[in-house]
Amino acid sequence: MDIVRINCAKCGRFFESNGFITLCPICYKQDQVDFERIRQYLHEHPHAKIFQVSTDLELPVSQIKRYLREERLEILEKDNLFLKCEACGKSICSGVYCDECSRKYDNNIRSVYTGYAGNSGSNRTTSQQIRFLPGR
Ligand SMILES: [Zn+2]
Ligand SMILES: [Zn+2]
Repeated sequence: MDIVRINCAKCGRFFESNGFITLCPICYKQDQVDFERIRQYLHEHPHAKIFQVSTDLELPVSQIKRYLREERLEILEKDNLFLKCEACGKSICSGVYCDECSRKYDNNIRSVYTGYAGNSGSNRTTSQQIRFLPGR
């Protein structure tokens, strides 16, 4: 695996990555902590909205969106207008592409995905419900 020097998606610090990790070791650790807080929060508030999670935990919506892109979280509503397929713009519940496009792109997904993280995009619609993917 190639080691590349990239900017941390969060703090901007240079660090050595294997190409898949977009956070420096310090931010990565914090990221795990944040994710655990979201997990706990959603356990106590199973139908919390994205903005609610963001406000109560003081985490940026862009960070929650990143978890959605990483398929660590999932939006309950199919027509959510919050998370969109990178290829065709259709609403998706998690990940980067809709089912159709992910079949089309298949093996390219991982490499495309690494270039995506840290891109916060638009925060217009933040009232969707989020939950965890089963079994994660
Ligand atoms: Zn960092
Ligand atoms: Zn698509």
